[in-house]
Amino acid sequence: AAKQSGRGNFREYDSSFDSSIQDRIRLEREIQLGLERNEFFLEYQPIMSTHDRTLVGYEALVRWQHPERGRVPPDQFIGIAEECGLIAQLGGWVLRRACRDAVSWKNGLNVSVNVSPIQFTTSDLPDVIKSALDDAGLEPNRLSIEITESTFLVGKQAIQILKALRALGVGIVMDDFGTGYSSLSHLRDFQFDKVKIDRSFIWDMINRPHSAAIVDAILSLGHGLGVDIVAEGIETAEQLAYLEQRSCSLVQGYFIGRPSQTIAERPRTEVMEAPVPA
Ligand code: C2E
Ligand code: MG
Ligand code: MG
Ligand code: MG
Repeated sequence: AAKQSGRGNFREYDSSFDSSIQDRIRLEREIQLGLERNEFFLEYQPIMSTHDRTLVGYEALVRWQHPERGRVPPDQFIGIAEECGLIAQLGGWVLRRACRDAVSWKNGLNVSVNVSPIQFTTSDLPDVIKSALDDAGLEPNRLSIEITESTFLVGKQAIQILKALRALGVGIVMDDFGTGYSSLSHLRDFQFDKVKIDRSFIWDMINRPHSAAIVDAILSLGHGLGVDIVAEGIETAEQLAYLEQRSCSLVQGYFIGRPSQTIAERPRTEVMEAPVPA
């Protein structure tokens, strides 16, 4: 049967296999080069308090300006950087850059940095974060790290590292809550400062009762646990109004402000000032 399928089939399979492996190897090499050539940069997306509609901080989002590929979004290189062992270097750079940037912000707002589960596989994350803070001269309470539920899959040391980070005074945020390896025990076993509702629920909550029910449940969970809930991916006034009516304390999304290289760019004033129709 193998013979009958013909050489052509094998070739086709082989060559596509080769090319994807080669693509990956090339990309790995290019990430390494990109780090050396300073091709990575950060954008900051504002996070707004619904209580008084003021900004409380910004999430740092890494971008790659590739010389030939152009702008590569993080979904296309974070996974590879994680697999090939470059995420520690890239993640370290992101932490140092974000701390230095936050020190320069005249508004004194907080900065939130995404940290990969792989960065929890070695025990030196607290040292990396402490030196990023010290070198920049940033107060620890102005930095938060965002982790996903898969961080708990790296083993027991994850909780130990989280506790060490907490002891440093850094905020700990559960990102993308409700997707991934959701387990409510994580919320019981570790006191997060904030929990972010994944934007896949925000996206369709206005039209899809099941998403709305999940959003409502996470909000009430946050209330019960004494944890601030951040809703991410707010794109419309209607979504913002829905969340404000339910006392979701923090919001983030294109409607509030897009990720941008300069934080001087204020969110749209109509969002900040005009009342949103219910
Ligand atoms: P995330 O941490 O959940 O970040 C939120 C993502 O949603 C960002 O995508 C942001 O640009 C996007 N977003 C924000 N508001 C809206 C909205 O209203 N509508 C829509 N459609 N999207 C919105 P981005 O920048 O492409 O980042 C994707 C993911 O890559 C992040 O998801 C995070 O998991 C990861 N990432 C980004 N920067 C870093 C980093 O420095 N380190 C690590 N380890 N991961 C990072
Ligand atoms: Mg995040
Ligand atoms: Mg998220
Ligand atoms: Mg995400």
